[in-house]
Amino acid sequence: MTRSGIGYDLHRLEAGRKLIVGGIEVPFDKGPAGHSDGDVLAHAICDALLGAAGLGDIGTHFPDTDPKWKGVSSLLFLEHVRKLYDQASVRINHIDAVVITERPKLGTHFPAMREALAKSLGISARQISLKAKTNEGVDAIGRGEAIAAHAIASVEG
Ligand SMILES: [Zn+2]
Repeated sequence: MTRSGIGYDLHRLEAGRKLIVGGIEVPFDKGPAGHSDGDVLAHAICDALLGAAGLGDIGTHFPDTDPKWKGVSSLLFLEHVRKLYDQASVRINHIDAVVITERPKLGTHFPAMREALAKSLGISARQISLKAKTNEGVDAIGRGEAIAAHAIASVEG
């Protein structure tokens, strides 16, 4: 059976934090507040994959109250999802995602992000599509106070 899952995430941006998106550090003067590394793209993809396989959500598997996940790379979440997928015999067909941030420009980092995400999930970078949007200067994202991502995953199994 082909199934789809949707994921969404948003983090506040604060001065003095590293900006990690899709497992890659992007040079910038602000980064996401969060219990883990605050990687919105990895978190949205994680939720999309968990949803598609009917396995709950990121908060159930990686609670932000658990010290185990403090400051960790969110690629570990994806590696964990990969194990859950193996156990459930579910296979990833394709992931499409959009990252919304006013600054910095992310497009040049997409090839490295696709490689990093694909490696964590045990799939090919060709199975991951990434897109970038601004928020046209409006709302918290437009003012540079937050970064968000949407993802959709289609899976087989
Ligand atoms: Zn998150």
